[in-house]
Amino acid sequence: MDINKVARQHAEMDDFFTGGFAVRDSKAKQKQTEADKAAVAEAAKELEKIADETSRCRKCDLGSLRTNAVPGEGNSKARIVFVGEGPGADEDAQGRPFVGRAGKLLDKVIEACGLKRSDVFICNILKCRPPDNRDPGAEEIISCLPYLQRQIEIIEPEIIVALGAHAARTLLNTNKSIGQLRGQFHEYYAGLGRPPIKLMPTYHTAYLLRNYSQDNRRRVWEDMKKVLTELGLPVPEHRKA
Ligand code: URA
Repeated sequence: MDINKVARQHAEMDDFFTGGFAVRDSKAKQKQTEADKAAVAEAAKELEKIADETSRCRKCDLGSLRTNAVPGEGNSKARIVFVGEGPGADEDAQGRPFVGRAGKLLDKVIEACGLKRSDVFICNILKCRPPDNRDPGAEEIISCLPYLQRQIEIIEPEIIVALGAHAARTLLNTNKSIGQLRGQFHEYYAGLGRPPIKLMPTYHTAYLLRNYSQDNRRRVWEDMKKVLTELGLPVPEHRKA
């Protein structure tokens, strides 16, 4: 690993995704009614059951290889759910999603939106780490997808942000490239009788780290601005944009 490159990326990351944006304070938080609080608690309990199931899951071979399952974490009634590909080594070690380098960059993106990690829900298509960080296999996705589908049903987000090609293609059931998919809203069908959920595909933060150009970072920011606008949230200004 090129330490200088990593240090440079971190400095640029701070500047692009945080330094330039006015971070919203939490005044925008709405007053929670008792009914809201009960719904949040009930949803959290249901998500906990799924987490427990994933920790015992042996539906595919990844179950016997994991240190920890990584079910996902965050606000049980989040307006935004971020969906990545699958846990890496850091996530497998900690049992938490997006805690490695790609996760640190995702934190910056969330912060740049004026939000906190605890405002959103973060999870993956796969709940267990594929060895050597290889791409998820079709069988693995088929076995694991019901967990994510149930999580989305419980959380009922207004928007799903699919990070990278694997998440976007799986949730939209398409073979299109992430370049073709990103930048516009698509619809995720959560099941019969449920309204479709808007889904914004964007580049995975791991891809962004590998292809760290101003253009790619701007594309992710453009995608996130659309998400904020759709939710009626203020779009923090970027001093360089
Ligand atoms: N990459 C992912 O897709 N998910 C994680 O949790 C971490 C890295």
